[in-house]
Amino acid sequence: MALIELHRLDKRYTTGTLAVQALDLQIAAGEFVALLGPSGCGKSTVLRMVAGLEAPSAGTLVAPEGQATGYVFQEPTLMPWADVFDNVWLPLRIAGMRRAIARHRIEALLQSVGLSEFAHAYPSELSGGMKMRTSIARALVTQPQLLLMDEPFAALDEITRQKLNDDLLGWWQAQRFTALFVTHSVYEAVFLSRRVLVMSGRPGRLVAEVPIDEPYPRG
Ligand code: ADP
Ligand code: ADP
Repeated sequence: MALIELHRLDKRYTTGTLAVQALDLQIAAGEFVALLGPSGCGKSTVLRMVAGLEAPSAGTLVAPEGQATGYVFQEPTLMPWADVFDNVWLPLRIAGMRRAIARHRIEALLQSVGLSEFAHAYPSELSGGMKMRTSIARALVTQPQLLLMDEPFAALDEITRQKLNDDLLGWWQAQRFTALFVTHSVYEAVFLSRRVLVMSGRPGRLVAEVPIDEPYPRG
């Protein structure tokens, strides 16, 4: 059954730019899908519409709502005045879950993303990779059905990036969320996903869909 379903979706910004045109897309629960394409072809726009952060101009869209969706941006956007634990707690706090009640879940999550030692560190004390881990933990703490990622690792060095790609597949296998991952790296798309959707042009359209039948060797 489809978790995400887009039918003939258009997005025209108030500036007049037609960013996305006639996009058809279905993603089943549990899939890991990569959205690949050059800068400016509308990938972020698609992700923001799926997240409900931007309204389509035409067409229909079905996707999980509210806390059922986690979102990870290229910039980790952590609260500088709060430590890692409190940054990860934020979505639960907004949902009304007190710190003491959330503690066990947060500690287990910090353990699984490799942040146990850093629970009481502040963002300014963290490396780029650790900030990104914190950002991913914050997105996963509500146990979302869907994790949307917009070029999350593009600003990281290659070694950190590969480690995060490896770990992300592990978290996906363990937690069974559906993943939609925007990238302009062919390597990353093929390494992570079982299906690569290629966007191109202005306005951006879906121009190809490539199944990755033989998963990349993952050790
Ligand atoms: P990508 O993520 O593939 O780089 P974007 O979705 O960011 O592409 O942008 C697609 C097109 O829409 C670009 O022409 C961009 O300038 C335009 N665009 C993106 N966001 C906005 C916005 N908030 N307002 C107006 N135009 C935008
Ligand atoms: P991306 O990382 O998706 O390639 P860009 O670096 O092109 O995005 O742009 C960053 C953000 O700036 C976009 O996601 C969008 O919100 C905003 N933006 C881009 N183009 C425009 C535009 N023409 N008018 C207003 N906002 C824009």
